Amino acid sequence: ETNEKESMFLVSEFAKKYFEMILHTTDEGKSVGGSYFKQRGFTADTIKKFGLGYSSDAWDAFTKEALGKGYQLQYLDKTGLTIVKEDKTFDRFKGRVMFPIQSLSGRVLGFGGRILTNDKKAAKYLNSPESEIYHKSKVLYGIYHAKQAIAKQDNCFLVEGYTDVIQMHQSGIENVVASSGTALTPDQIRLIHRLTKNITVLFDGDAAGLRASIRGIDLILEAGMNVRVCTFPDGEDPDSFAKKTPHDELVKYLSENATDFIRFKASLLMDEAKGDPIKKADLIRDIVVSISKVPDNIQREVYIQECSRIMDISEEVLFNTLAQIGKKEL
Ligand code: ATP
Ligand code: MN
Ligand code: MN
Ligand code: MN
Repeated sequence: ETNEKESMFLVSEFAKKYFEMILHTTDEGKSVGGSYFKQRGFTADTIKKFGLGYSSDAWDAFTKEALGKGYQLQYLDKTGLTIVKEDKTFDRFKGRVMFPIQSLSGRVLGFGGRILTNDKKAAKYLNSPESEIYHKSKVLYGIYHAKQAIAKQDNCFLVEGYTDVIQMHQSGIENVVASSGTALTPDQIRLIHRLTKNITVLFDGDAAGLRASIRGIDLILEAGMNVRVCTFPDGEDPDSFAKKTPHDELVKYLSENATDFIRFKASLLMDEAKGDPIKKADLIRDIVVSISKVPDNIQREVYIQECSRIMDISEEVLFNTLAQIGKKEL
């Protein structure tokens, strides 16, 4: 219902302002949240731009304030800002630094909240639960701040996390959004596709994540987008790398290391097979499945030629495999 959604938007907007106020004007906010952001290298302008905030460590400081201002408990509950258990209420994001998640038009849909320690026992990030206004599979963190630059640059950088988006902006690269740690969904791909046909996926420099992320990329090819990928040195993510790299050098690194996805995948799979014939056969099927997702005939043909070279196998075999896959999917 529209009124209900509107009330949820209003309380979310209030929460964003409240968490910013706590960060900027209270002792706890300044000393705990403020020093956390400082240690991450975020400037005052960056913190303002992204509406970053801090949620007090008190049990229900936010909930009390919101109720006092006349916001109804049902909407605090529905947005997940307040957890209601029997007759008790408490703040979901207590003691966390806050990253508001905004829609394409800038409305506050939900939040990500990060703990301040690197305590492995607690969830590092906590997100708003699914609700009538927050659909995890449909939002992209940073889209509101990135949309103009994506259209202008005719390319979108895709990163994993909130801090990657923010640090890239601070380094002067604004055409960047985050999937928040999961594979892109068709809705998220459509959102980007409205602005550009070109996407460059930036991977965290850990091998574990790479394998999983590569699977999801077939979906982007299927949408007819041109996909490039870029990796970072071991243990670095776009945030840590951008933080220590001057703007010009960062731009240079990205342009020199961004590789066509099919080319990247073919080389990666070849390295993995290490000459083992059975493995190689499996991997050839794997890469041909990716090529089969490309809607453009000519592009598919070019990819077959390229993979024939990289994987040292005849084009004829690849074309036959492609035809078989086509038949199976019909
Ligand atoms: P940081 O630099 O703050 O430690 P990160 O963004 O590098 O965080 P990653 O571990 O690379 O964190 O995860 C990427 C993204 O995945 C996060 O930004 C967040 O959106 C999501 N994420 C990570 N851990 C969790 C978690 N425990 N629960 C929910 N989402 C998570
Ligand atoms: Mn990661
Ligand atoms: Mn990361
Ligand atoms: Mn990180």
